[in-house]
Amino acid sequence: MASIRQLHDRYMTPNYAPMAIIPDHGSGSYLWDIAGNEYLDFASGIAVCALGHAHPELVRVLAEQAGRYWHVSNVLTSQPAIQLAQKLCGLTFAERIFFANSGSEANEAALKLARRYAFNRYGREKHEILAFDQAFHGRTLFTVNVGGQPAYSSGFGPKPGGISHRPFNDIGSLRQFFEEKGPTTCAVILEPCQGEAGVVPASVEFVKVVRECCDQYNALMILDEIQTGVGRSGKLYTYQKMGVTPDILTTAKALGGGFPISAMLTTEEIGNDLVVGSHGSTFGGNPMACAVAGKILDIVSQPAMLRSIEAHGIHLASGLKSINDQYGVFQEIRGTGLLLGCELVGRYRGEGRRLLATCVSDGLLVLVAGPDVIRLAPPLNISTAELDQGLERFETAVRNFISDSEPSSECMGSIVQK
Ligand SMILES: *Cc1c(COP(=O)(O)O)cnc(C)c1O
Repeated sequence: MASIRQLHDRYMTPNYAPMAIIPDHGSGSYLWDIAGNEYLDFASGIAVCALGHAHPELVRVLAEQAGRYWHVSNVLTSQPAIQLAQKLCGLTFAERIFFANSGSEANEAALKLARRYAFNRYGREKHEILAFDQAFHGRTLFTVNVGGQPAYSSGFGPKPGGISHRPFNDIGSLRQFFEEKGPTTCAVILEPCQGEAGVVPASVEFVKVVRECCDQYNALMILDEIQTGVGRSGKLYTYQKMGVTPDILTTAKALGGGFPISAMLTTEEIGNDLVVGSHGSTFGGNPMACAVAGKILDIVSQPAMLRSIEAHGIHLASGLKSINDQYGVFQEIRGTGLLLGCELVGRYRGEGRRLLATCVSDGLLVLVAGPDVIRLAPPLNISTAELDQGLERFETAVRNFISDSEPSSECMGSIVQK
């Protein structure tokens, strides 16, 4: 009989290569597979399950809305969507909200809005979008080309035009770009901490110069907080600790805690350019998604919660550093709040997936971000004891990772006399 993993390969398009374990159920920071093995989940479904698995309050509000109505489309006014929009506006710079279902769609809306805003005010010439090398903004044909990883965008025919890339965190090249192309540029899009690129934080100075250039040349600043938002950085949104306010912000992943929802946040002046019929989404603002997201914002926006995320981020980073002091496998440990990346040193480069697999065997789910970086994104409500347990498992995994790569154990074991 075929295993479930073999059935995956039989029936699914082969664009994913999932691990062999088959999840059965979860609770808080723990996940169990169908064989009964327990895992501490420091992946959170790629920084999605903000409050871990099966959070009782989220289960309750979801079930409550599910028992009322599931979907009414944008033809009718939806109370859960309005309540969520009101909360987002109360907690951020935003005055107008557009809801969609995924990060890509929120960015697609942001980029289309920036183009339309510039078109309405300055004419068709002002349409250039500046993004950064290695950035990740989604997988639709437009957003994947705005992203800065050609491996993801090549081989799909003609690419949308009017998109430029420059090195991330390079203020000189940013200023030079604006000197050349400022008048025809409608928007700059960036992540406050590049996630998929390997957890690379933007310097505050760089973000400030982006803001400055946008102001000088009437371009909109779009902050992609799809991975960093909803508390992950220790603030509800990362811009709130950088002293810079974007014109448009996109949020997804953790917003629904595992239920698909995304939002584009903007000001009244900019948002009003999305006139009736100019953009839309069948499922955007789904009542169940909005009910869950509203509860998540209530919980995560509590000052005590945000303080604990920040403290736990520091605790996790220092635990990782002391493991590294002992084993020397990482050249850098970096990130923001509870989003951390551990970049492998020279001799282990390219082996991120092997270390990830070792972590899984030792009961810890983690992520990679590129071939050289292990990415950790535990639930935001994780306890200190669970973090410490995760660190213990991580240390075991690092030890096993190193000993598995010692040539002496396999090739020379029978020759070397101890
Ligand atoms: C995940 C991610 C996206 C894409 O979100 P999807 O929901 O997969 O479409 C875009 N930008 C960033 C920064 C992300 O981390």
